[in-house]
Amino acid sequence: MSLSEPRKSCNAAIPPSVIETYHRLRAGVRRQVTWKLLSERIEIWPDREHLMYLSAVLLELPLLRLWKDKKLYCMPCERCGGVVFGNEVVGMCEHCQRAVELRINPLVLGLLSDETAGLRGEHNLLVADEVWEKLFGLGQGTGNDEAISEKWLRERERIVRYQRFTWVLLWVRGWDGGRLVVVDVLDVNGTEL
Ligand SMILES: [Zn+2]
Repeated sequence: MSLSEPRKSCNAAIPPSVIETYHRLRAGVRRQVTWKLLSERIEIWPDREHLMYLSAVLLELPLLRLWKDKKLYCMPCERCGGVVFGNEVVGMCEHCQRAVELRINPLVLGLLSDETAGLRGEHNLLVADEVWEKLFGLGQGTGNDEAISEKWLRERERIVRYQRFTWVLLWVRGWDGGRLVVVDVLDVNGTEL
């Protein structure tokens, strides 16, 4: 299992058990890692749960580009499997003529990088709704969609891009061969945003 292997470009719903595991493990040692250490740990112990804290910067954040392409949100249609894109949390599958609930396109995380390496949103990375809400005020049912405009997105890009955050990552064994989930984001000192 390579972390840099491209995966489905949609953000699956994170099962509640993953978030529960995060809250159980976060009471323990806060293991600071680099991308290099993180991928080594997963390669050596893929069948363990790893909760890791990574200090990294979003070098690419294509919020505006995805919005202009009408791809800010996406999700596969459950019936036909075709990916539905849109700029709102509900889209329409053209093929099946049915409404599909969409989630934020993980490609928003263009390039998340530290001093050792980086990972792109198109890779083996899932993002919990809470992270989107903290970073952008975007998420499922936040009711914030009406506020989305070119000016608003440009402002979010300006605030979040190049800023160092502590990214909380949980490696979930046994889920689709193991998935790396961004379960939380904290400020650079590891305290709540
Ligand atoms: Zn469909």
